Amino acid sequence: MAAGVGAAIIDGKAFAAGLRARVGAAVPAFQAATGRVPGLAVVLVGEDPASHVYVRNKGIATREAGMASFEHRLPADVSEDELLALVAALNGDDGVDGILVQMPCPRHISEARVIAAVDPDKDVDGFHPVNAGRLASGLPGLVPCTPSGCLMLLQDRLGDLSGLEALVIGRSNIVGKPMAALLVAASATVTVAHSRTRDLAAHVGRADIVVAAVGVPELVRGAWLKPGATVIDVGMNRIALPDGKTRLVGDVAFAEALEVAGAITPVPGGVGPMTIACLLRNTLIAAHARAGLAVPSL
Ligand code: NAD
Repeated sequence: MAAGVGAAIIDGKAFAAGLRARVGAAVPAFQAATGRVPGLAVVLVGEDPASHVYVRNKGIATREAGMASFEHRLPADVSEDELLALVAALNGDDGVDGILVQMPCPRHISEARVIAAVDPDKDVDGFHPVNAGRLASGLPGLVPCTPSGCLMLLQDRLGDLSGLEALVIGRSNIVGKPMAALLVAASATVTVAHSRTRDLAAHVGRADIVVAAVGVPELVRGAWLKPGATVIDVGMNRIALPDGKTRLVGDVAFAEALEVAGAITPVPGGVGPMTIACLLRNTLIAAHARAGLAVPSL
């Protein structure tokens, strides 16, 4: 891209609004076929303020899409057994198609045990090892929401990804690893970088696609990028400003990247809104699969 022209800014907020509308538009046909609307249960343990905001926003978005939202708030000192008993009850509840336990859980609760307790067919977070295995094996299943949203933005921007060099920075179970699996399935040539990677800049410089999911403010510099690259910034880092206020920044130095990249997601307004939209999509998919109905393409 010529100097000064600037990258296109990928409007995740607008794309997510469209996806949420498409999910909502598919609900009446499901209701006509089954006599009920898809239902999403969200479980929140403790008082983490950020988690409360996420859960409230998920509830609002679920109801806006015409689906049923069931919210369960448990005290921070709830025992793991009590939480697992609630998950078991939700597994057995026919009106519940999706179950999400908001992470992080308090330290005395094993997140791995909670994730493994959710019925894989209701696992709308896509974190259950069965769904991770399905994704790795190329089988249909529920895919984690954030990487799913990143893939939709990439395919909307670039169309066919086959043969493109893709770099995923980060190897977490919720973003990096499933993102890499999705890109492999889309026939990109995929590199996964992480905290032990040597010379991250050199890897970035080869990539047509960069997905940064690290949690380090502005780690990826604009000068590292291949000109014209498509950059998906998953990072959400709150930094303190000299005046005492705070600002949300991504894992990519946005202003620098604008000068070199072909397209980039902003923070906020890029990947973030896609995560909730994909949660609604997963709930719709789970509801159709459980009812034995063909899953609508969204
Ligand atoms: P995580 O802490 O579980 O994983 C971070 C990964 O980054 C690790 O795999 C680590 O190896 C790698 N890493 C750390 N330092 C590195 C370095 N210097 N160079 C290369 N790799 C390095 O984090 P996560 O849960 O995957 O989340 C990553 C970021 O994405 C965070 O900022 C988080 O807030 C954000 N996030 C955003 C959304 C959204 O909806 N937008 C959803 C999930 C996570």
